[in-house]
Amino acid sequence: MMEIKDLKHILKSQFGYDSFRPMQEEIIQHTIGGGNSLVLMPTGGGKSLCFQISALGMEGMAVIVSPLISLMKDQVGALKANGIAAEALNSSNDEGLNRDIINRCLEGKVKLLYISPERLVGGMMHLLLQAHISLFAIDEAHCISSWGHDFRPEYTQLGQLRELFPDVPIMALTATADKITKQDILKQMNIEDAQTFISSFDRPNLSLDVKRGYSAREKLRSIVELIHRHPGESGIIYCLARKTTEELADKLQKEGIATGVYHAGLPNSERDRVQDDFVADKIQVICDTIAFGMGIDKSNVRFVAHYNLPKSIESFYQEIGRGGRDGLPCETVLYYNLGDIITLRKFVDESGQREINLEKLQRMQEYAEAQVCRRRILLNYFGETSDKDCGNCDVCHMPPSTFDGTVLVQKALSAILRTEEQIGFTLTIDILRGNFSPEVVSRGYDRIKTFAAGRDIPYRDWHDYLLQMLQMGFIEIAYNEDRHIHVTELGKKVLYGKRTIQLAVISREDFSVKARRQRQKENAAKAIDEAGKSEDMELFNKLKEVRKRIADEHHWPAYVVLSDKSLHHLAIEMPTTLVAFGNTFGIGEHKRDSFGAEFIDVIKEYAPTKEVLPFDEMATIAPVTEKSLSYMERQKQLHAKAYAPWTDEDDNWLKQLVKDGHPIKDIASFMERNNGAIKSRMKKLGIEL
Ligand SMILES: [Zn+2]
Repeated sequence: MMEIKDLKHILKSQFGYDSFRPMQEEIIQHTIGGGNSLVLMPTGGGKSLCFQISALGMEGMAVIVSPLISLMKDQVGALKANGIAAEALNSSNDEGLNRDIINRCLEGKVKLLYISPERLVGGMMHLLLQAHISLFAIDEAHCISSWGHDFRPEYTQLGQLRELFPDVPIMALTATADKITKQDILKQMNIEDAQTFISSFDRPNLSLDVKRGYSAREKLRSIVELIHRHPGESGIIYCLARKTTEELADKLQKEGIATGVYHAGLPNSERDRVQDDFVADKIQVICDTIAFGMGIDKSNVRFVAHYNLPKSIESFYQEIGRGGRDGLPCETVLYYNLGDIITLRKFVDESGQREINLEKLQRMQEYAEAQVCRRRILLNYFGETSDKDCGNCDVCHMPPSTFDGTVLVQKALSAILRTEEQIGFTLTIDILRGNFSPEVVSRGYDRIKTFAAGRDIPYRDWHDYLLQMLQMGFIEIAYNEDRHIHVTELGKKVLYGKRTIQLAVISREDFSVKARRQRQKENAAKAIDEAGKSEDMELFNKLKEVRKRIADEHHWPAYVVLSDKSLHHLAIEMPTTLVAFGNTFGIGEHKRDSFGAEFIDVIKEYAPTKEVLPFDEMATIAPVTEKSLSYMERQKQLHAKAYAPWTDEDDNWLKQLVKDGHPIKDIASFMERNNGAIKSRMKKLGIEL
């Protein structure tokens, strides 16, 4: 068996990480020891590293079954960037390439082979008997269960693996599995002896925020602000309907935000294009239905918004889980209103599994209405208990305040009962607000006792209070009766004065121009403050350019070159030797040797300048190093005058710069010549530094 220090060595030398994340090491040890396993880890919890390191620690080739071509492409690309022999067999390759890959597999030249389930069960399984297989990893293993939400029939044939390869360990992995699905995976895969590993579902770097009852206009403003809080950073916005994704993207584009649309109704080629552009940072924001993001490993998504309430906590958690995979902060915001509940209830009623889906939707609503730490609710849902508040959700930041809303609730309940429960939300509010709408008048509701009893409360606040009443179970919606409101038994108790009720005080974002400017100012000040304390954002941006250039050269997504986290480490630690560069978070030997020098050049060029020059003088040399130019071009331009003859004016300027105490390097920058040229001219003129 591999020793722990050997595994650590693989982790460091190939992937550049100093330590394993929770459970990874145990899982890898267990697999290398020949054991089968079921691995439950949240998205972004480091699932793939479990089979990747196992594969590198074992003789032979690991076979990874994955249903998502884009995910395969992503992982294979990332492995290759680390110098690891990985390949993918799938329908997007041409058959010549696939044949070539198969030959290399049989010759033992491939260390990790990614394959789609269709291809594996459609003939490859028997061909692989001729190869030396180290392990089978079944990604998205919940697809094998008809209980799960992504059932794929071809997965059920994977059960044969155990018979055909009795000595090869099997690792089944999933980010989402309830109890029944879990048992089903073990049974269908014939690995009932497997050890189950469940890692914490906690993702503390994802902030949680819920905004309730926003109008479409408020939502748009709030989302635009969210995007502006993350200039140049990627984000995903999930919508319930295809049409909404298109409309929202249109509005965001009008705000000047590079936005793409992704949903199942678009042709494959268009979806691929949008996905590729997003991965390559050409599109900043994606508006999509749930279909998006299944297959991408983009690690630097910095915000995720839900334009509508998701249908279950599983979906919600999986979707926000696509943010912040590099472990850096990611902001998540969930918008929800009554319309969402009505639409989702309709889906539930039309779905095959009404009871299960209704239960799931109700748990999702409870989350959105929570008055306690939201993370505790999420973790509790996944069977983990947490005894402390997270400090990174809106409830923790601003605990909701309540007021005695008994009379207010009674007014609403009374209005509903006096119409013999024949009205929906809009009419209820019309009656309470004393609005002589044609429907109110024609049905005689302007003559009931509660007409205008709540005229002091704005329309949208009533909307919110009714929503709270629904959540607290005082009213229910009769979906089969034109969505009329019924008063529940509990509601009647409130109406007859047997209970007092606390309602949550409504808090809304202030979208006035003044408030927005104030917030922008605060954000900017905060950013400068944070940057000053921890790292140099100017250098960070320069390093980002280097990364972009290398990514473009190799046709890789930027994060495959280096993650944001690695880049931040470089900007803070400013390594100027290859050894120090290689010791930076997330940088393995292969990356160090392949492009360490390019990053170091930029750091070296930047760091000493920064020490000597005051900030405003930096501005004078900034135009030379234009962002759009490549490093070599900038070098050329920087020293463009290196061999130009010296004029008297030049000499005088040189004397002045020396007199002012600038170091040679800066003088070289100012004069667009190299250090050597400056030194020899100084010698000639008899100037000493
Ligand atoms: Zn919290």
